[in-house]
Amino acid sequence: MYNIIADLHTHTIASTHAYSTIAEMAVSARDKGLYALAITDHASPMPGGPGPWYFSNLRSSVPLFYKDVLILAGIEADVIDFEGHLDLEPIDEERLDWVVASIHDVGFPGLENPDFDKCTALWLGVAKNPAVNVIGHSGSPKFAYDYEKVIPAFGANGKLVEINSHSFDVRADNIKNCRQIALTCKKYGVSIVVDSDAHFETQIADFHPALQMLEEISFPEELIVNSSKERLHAYLEKHSKIAKLLPNT
Ligand SMILES: [Zn+2]
Ligand SMILES: [Zn+2]
Repeated sequence: MYNIIADLHTHTIASTHAYSTIAEMAVSARDKGLYALAITDHASPMPGGPGPWYFSNLRSSVPLFYKDVLILAGIEADVIDFEGHLDLEPIDEERLDWVVASIHDVGFPGLENPDFDKCTALWLGVAKNPAVNVIGHSGSPKFAYDYEKVIPAFGANGKLVEINSHSFDVRADNIKNCRQIALTCKKYGVSIVVDSDAHFETQIADFHPALQMLEEISFPEELIVNSSKERLHAYLEKHSKIAKLLPNT
């Protein structure tokens, strides 16, 4: 079984449908032996999202290492149209270390009547956005896209394709596509991250269903960026503003 050392998509009470504080999440991450934790609450326009200064103040408030865990100040931004624009404010983009871009089908205007071609264009748009690190839980059948075309573009642009373990529990209709997405990443050598999408401290590092699927398809460990500290650091050095804050390793 793979050894995952960082959980890079998690929610705190700042997303008001999640139930732990950053401090509680950090303790849990430490107790579970993780090296790093990304706090990625929903952007402000999401129902129950945090207020306007939450993200711009996050990095300057939370220490780089807290409870011995490297904390990435992040956001889970929403894709808001078929061109792949995000609800990410410029100041937040400037100050955050880690951006997950996801589609949430919560009735925002801009994503009505999705089809295969529109969703392909959407993700090709996101692939070109330099602010984005992770393509969040993109296995929705309703927003299915051309994996053969888009996944190599994710790889070419330094985007990590997320295999979201939470999807196996709460988005069961995504499972088949998640497997296909992972197979396509394997085929084209595109890197991924495995995340819990925890909404409570006990869910941190809950990677089991995702890892089981990756084992079934013999997914190469070297393409899982959060499967070693060295791989994670190599990615951060190249693609995250946190690089300038990190101690030399
Ligand atoms: Zn999400
Ligand atoms: Zn999430």
